[in-house]
Amino acid sequence: MKIKKLARQEAQKIAAGEVVERPANIVKELIENSLDAGARHIMLSVKQGGKKYIRIVDNGGGMSPEDAKICFERHTTSKIKTIDQLQNINTFGFRGEALASICSVAKVTITTKQKDTLEGLELSLENGAIEKTKIVGTQTGTTITITDLFYNVPARKKFLKATTTEWNHVVTLFKAFALDNLAVHFILEHDDATVYNCPPVQQITERITQLFQEPLTNHVASLTTFEKDDITISGALTTQQYARYDRGGIFFFVNNRWVKNYRLISALTKGYLNVLPSGRYPAAAIAITVNPKTVDINVHPKKEEIQFLNPRLVESAITAAVKTTLENQLSKHLKRTVNLAPEPVAPFSSDPFPLPFTPTPLQKEEKKEPKIQNIPFPQKEEQPQQQEVPKEENKQIAASKNYTLLSQYKKTYLLLEKEEGLFIVDQHAAHERILYERFADRFNQVAVVRLLFPHSITLSTGDIDLLEPHLELFHKYGIEIERSGKDQLAVKATPVFFKNQPINDLITQTIGWVKELGALDPQDFYKKITEKLRAQMACKAAVKAGDVLTTKTMEQLLDDLETTNNRFTCPHGRPTSWMFSLNDLERKFKRKL
Ligand code: ADP
Ligand code: MG
Repeated sequence: MKIKKLARQEAQKIAAGEVVERPANIVKELIENSLDAGARHIMLSVKQGGKKYIRIVDNGGGMSPEDAKICFERHTTSKIKTIDQLQNINTFGFRGEALASICSVAKVTITTKQKDTLEGLELSLENGAIEKTKIVGTQTGTTITITDLFYNVPARKKFLKATTTEWNHVVTLFKAFALDNLAVHFILEHDDATVYNCPPVQQITERITQLFQEPLTNHVASLTTFEKDDITISGALTTQQYARYDRGGIFFFVNNRWVKNYRLISALTKGYLNVLPSGRYPAAAIAITVNPKTVDINVHPKKEEIQFLNPRLVESAITAAVKTTLENQLSKHLKRTVNLAPEPVAPFSSDPFPLPFTPTPLQKEEKKEPKIQNIPFPQKEEQPQQQEVPKEENKQIAASKNYTLLSQYKKTYLLLEKEEGLFIVDQHAAHERILYERFADRFNQVAVVRLLFPHSITLSTGDIDLLEPHLELFHKYGIEIERSGKDQLAVKATPVFFKNQPINDLITQTIGWVKELGALDPQDFYKKITEKLRAQMACKAAVKAGDVLTTKTMEQLLDDLETTNNRFTCPHGRPTSWMFSLNDLERKFKRKL
């Protein structure tokens, strides 16, 4: 006979593999149990990333001696009695097998006492069975100690990773629980040193401060709460000023359960579109509350993944909440830095399109923003200023300055001191962003210079045929071009700010885009090509690396940048500035550890 029934213990060890792959899985089950037991204080201690030792001390309700003696047996649970209760269950665990699994692959000690009793019980287990029972004096709550993980399953032990890897998993999990349970005091120790001590807090942002370090904690905003269709989204996230190369700072909770779901992550990053370059990620802790009936949490044995009945609804809610939050954040910042008395706060501190041809609607609008109009557009050193600065207004801006300009480095970077630290600004990237955003805003309202003698450009007939239907595109940006022959174009006007720029390049590039994007449907084509044109014009008109700038011009550029949308990256996604906090520097110079 070849088929044999496995011994009970062996079968359990195999089953345990489903739940227990690594120390962090144990930690998860233990913290869930403590929370289910109503604990308000949870101290977790691990050694060697949890491979050697895991202990959790909680002040929850504890277990009666009878319960304690069976809690580690398979399918023992105080949480449900029938399968029907699964659907609406609010507690974490419900399989009634976590402790059983853990006990079958590690040595376990459980100490527990309920409130109204004097004595507690201590049980030591090996191979899933009680080895020792002791009556002990102890505090109310439960302490579970786990040592020698996989001591009896060498095949699994081999798969444990380096201590740092296992430790990182534990930390991530710990953070997730701490972010999701603000009223609980969490402590995490590693190799006898306290790593996190997080007393209860009111706000998620406070919890983030307890768990994360600068610069992340300097750039956290509360999420603007979103409520619609039975979906509520709340939490906190980092603003555009913070970015990391991994998704490790992103936590989602669905109905108070930490979940991993890549679609939620992409919904989040979509909210950052245009403000974070691709491949960079924010940090966020986002709580999603939905009707429990619209979500399936049992798609994965460890219950880490989740399926929504209608994922699109949830995803668009997240994107919307993130966008709104970032926009609000920006306008708050704007009010703070511009600090102008009259409402409404104008979006720009200078007018890029000042001169004679400015159409009336804009001028009307400007009357509403008297304090900050008419500051000259940043000019390169060699170009004449377009306009006089009224002294009054100059003062106004100077008074609201929140930085000290130190100098220009390598004719490319502006160095400045701010409250938060030392800033290095890429003059080209910054100016590019400023112009790009303005072109979007003042679309169609460009001050132009009419050329006395139209500038003529010769191209192939084929290219001109291709471009002719799209010459309208240029008009929107104040570039007037007409076909003047089979292979000739005549440029009749250019925007004031663009007058010294090589228009030929822009035209040949546009022909390239028409070829490349021609297959798109007209709406997409139009959108993409205007965007490209806008980025290209911004790039061409912006000051370049290597341009010497006057102090006044540099200040103008910095003032403008402060009040520009998406100002942390250029239109191509490069950062416009970097900051070194005093803290960073002090660490570098070893003044501080
Ligand atoms: P489940 O959590 O699915 O019920 P577990 O195997 O994780 O299954 O736990 C079994 C039972 O042991 C729980 O239902 C609970 O009654 C009890 N228990 C486990 N941990 C604790 C704890 N920290 N405090 C109080 N009771 C606990
Ligand atoms: Mg459990």
